[in-house]
Amino acid sequence: MSLSPVVIVGAGHAGVQAAASLREEGFDGEIVLLSDERELPYQRPPLSKAFLKGDMDLHGLPLRAEAFYRDQRIGLRLGVRATRIDRAARRVELADGSSIGYGHLILATGARQRRLDVPGVDLPGVFALRSIADATALRQRIAAGLRVVVIGAGFIGLEVAATAAKLGAETAVIEIARPMGRAVSPVLSDFYAEAHRAFGARLFLGVGVSAIKGSEKAEAVVLTDGEVLPADLVLVGVGVTAEDTLAREAGLECKNGVVVDAHLVTSDPAISAIGDCAAFPNATLGYVTRLESIQNAVDQAKRVAARIAGKPGPYNALAWFWSDQGDLKLTIAGLSHDVDEWVVRGDPATRAFSIFGFRGGKLAVVESVNRAGDHAAAKRIFATGKSLTPAEAADPAFDIRALAKG
Ligand code: FAD
Repeated sequence: MSLSPVVIVGAGHAGVQAAASLREEGFDGEIVLLSDERELPYQRPPLSKAFLKGDMDLHGLPLRAEAFYRDQRIGLRLGVRATRIDRAARRVELADGSSIGYGHLILATGARQRRLDVPGVDLPGVFALRSIADATALRQRIAAGLRVVVIGAGFIGLEVAATAAKLGAETAVIEIARPMGRAVSPVLSDFYAEAHRAFGARLFLGVGVSAIKGSEKAEAVVLTDGEVLPADLVLVGVGVTAEDTLAREAGLECKNGVVVDAHLVTSDPAISAIGDCAAFPNATLGYVTRLESIQNAVDQAKRVAARIAGKPGPYNALAWFWSDQGDLKLTIAGLSHDVDEWVVRGDPATRAFSIFGFRGGKLAVVESVNRAGDHAAAKRIFATGKSLTPAEAADPAFDIRALAKG
């Protein structure tokens, strides 16, 4: 059965890459790319970094110029929400009442903001950060002297906190566990907690939020220990959940995202899922995970495009990630899940060091702060399957870059 047209739902990093890679791989059929957002598909990472700081304007955000879609014969349709998948008829129904038939369907619907379930969360002055609209609203308001309370010390919360502090806002960060705790080592969490204090933020760790108070707008955040933090602006950054509504309603298997096999195919062979919305069997970890990163979105898109163009194969790309907070450039290669031994290389006091994580004695992840060379070496070590022991990683005289190159 013909795979054309390929219909892609969601024009974020995964969806746009899938469309582009289909053409690069020589797919000549029809491609339809649906986005429920009105803007030309754009990059999300700058929304909490350069764009928020004012170092980048809206023109810097699009993933591709408008002409790209025209030239590549990609039928980009903006402001159109897919509302239902009719699997039997192989059609996607749209919010405008029309529908499109597909030969193959790619779900690249991303993730949506996790809701903080406390009174006052819907008050004006409480923000989230996922879209251009969110970032524009935040950027217009964050200013010197403003009392900014960030709820959640994940990557996005901390990036916003660093920017707010830099712009002269009185910044507070609340985190029930430890900074970036789901993704990084305890040593790195501690380092970042200290760094944010030095940037000028007050940190409230190990405590939750019980309410946001205010009559017409948010005026204070009440912590679970009873402390009240006055606020002019509140950012909620408590993570995301997979946007799997379409898949779920269509009866596809979903569990913490749209469940796919090693080839990124859902429980229906005519439908794939990629990026933030996909729960896939992680070849490195040996169990199903869902990752929220550009690398994952882009590499999964490339894999699915290659498969559709006739080059099948399982997805097993190396996971990597980055985050910019103040003057600290964090890069992570690999995954910190199940790591049982951490080794620090270099001195955190110099603000340039790496932390190597081992799972059962095998290198699993390398977290580098202001050490791009270590990150590049780590990626090569993973790619070439070289072995590195915890003792070697800890030894400053051991040449990791030479190991990577050799
Ligand atoms: P998305 O980019 O979320 O795109 C999904 C798209 O699908 C959205 O436009 C959505 O509106 C649309 N959609 C959903 N449902 C429908 C429907 N039914 N019909 C039509 N369209 C639909 N990752 C990094 O690796 N490094 C970073 O530094 C980094 N910084 C980030 C900063 C911010 C502020 C944010 C929000 C994220 C950041 N991330 C970062 C995460 C990264 O942006 C995501 O992992 C990535 O965007 C995932 O791509 P995606 O295409 O799967 O999903």
